[in-house]
Amino acid sequence: MEKLLLITRNLVNNIQKIIQEDITEINKRLQQRGISYNDKTVLVTGGAGFLGSWVCDVLISQGAKVICMDNFSSGKPKNIEHIYNHPNFRFISHDIATPIYFGKVHPHAFSVPDVKRIDLVMHMASRASPFEFERHPISILKSNTIGTFNALGIANLNNADFFYTSTSEVYGNPPADAVPTSEDYFGNVNPIGPRSCYDESKRAGEAFVMAYILEYQINAWVVRIFNTYGPRIRWGKTFGRVVPNFIHQALQDHDITIFGDGKQTRSYTYIVDEIEAILTDISTPEAKGTVINIGNNIETTVVELAELIIELTNSNSKIIHQPLPIDDPVRRQPALKRANEILKWKPQIQLKKGLKRTIEWFKTIVDEN
Ligand code: UDP
Repeated sequence: MEKLLLITRNLVNNIQKIIQEDITEINKRLQQRGISYNDKTVLVTGGAGFLGSWVCDVLISQGAKVICMDNFSSGKPKNIEHIYNHPNFRFISHDIATPIYFGKVHPHAFSVPDVKRIDLVMHMASRASPFEFERHPISILKSNTIGTFNALGIANLNNADFFYTSTSEVYGNPPADAVPTSEDYFGNVNPIGPRSCYDESKRAGEAFVMAYILEYQINAWVVRIFNTYGPRIRWGKTFGRVVPNFIHQALQDHDITIFGDGKQTRSYTYIVDEIEAILTDISTPEAKGTVINIGNNIETTVVELAELIIELTNSNSKIIHQPLPIDDPVRRQPALKRANEILKWKPQIQLKKGLKRTIEWFKTIVDEN
């Protein structure tokens, strides 16, 4: 055990200082809550992605066994390379939209017969950038519909708990009287618009989870995640989301590209708050079988975000305006009553602080795009 802890510490030491500090902070918060995944075997789909890789890191640092599944469609080998050889970490290169069986050999499907036990399946695999909704709509639809169905099947066959990362996108474009948006709001989604592959498939994913609860009494948890940012957020010229785009543009003194007038809002959650909420949710029996918004309750306009990033990077960038994408939501702000009451959780890290950390990390990455 001591040897294992030493290896874990060394591996965690190999990752960037800023990520290491944040993992320590997440563990401190979980410890204060009495939450540990020490003895669990957890399957994380999308484990090489932005959120998934943070979950893998925290679970490994807690002594859990992690089976990370990813097909690197949007996840990156770099996000998991530091834990790749850890004795408690196993990587499976696979698209969850294709059936896969654990613990036995299936004659007509991929099988991983030597995994005899899974305690928890966390289904976190999906591309999430609006730029990709246009380019990869089918794989997005598959990850969240067939992928959720397959992941639920794995949980059901292994008597494992199930966790699903849904999204604020299930609300679509809520009218002003539905902002802040509570979990009871059913949504205003265009079923054939450019965002529908993501919005509708996440909605279907939630329906799959509810069906498995009804029919198989599976233990399941669902969170609706609002915009999240932090180290490891995916960036690329052709798929970047607003925070990494603006940081990259500002660091290069390039023009900051605001879509539309920039008065649309988002509510940004720093990764430490997000991962604390996710791992708290699954450990909270009262949260089982329900959905909970996880996000920041402070709304920020895109213009405010651009100005803050320019200030924090001492950039000479100028703001320019480009056309607003179709169906771009006007406002996004979560109601956090359930998160506050059921999880006793609220975001703690202010945008300025989180952005400073993200910018610091951004300066250390080699841009491969
Ligand atoms: N946005 C922008 N410039 C960019 C990228 C995004 O103005 O370079 C805007 C986008 O139109 C949206 C907001 O920023 O209103 C957040 O976009 P993001 O891509 O992060 O994802 P979304 O929250 O729309 O899913």
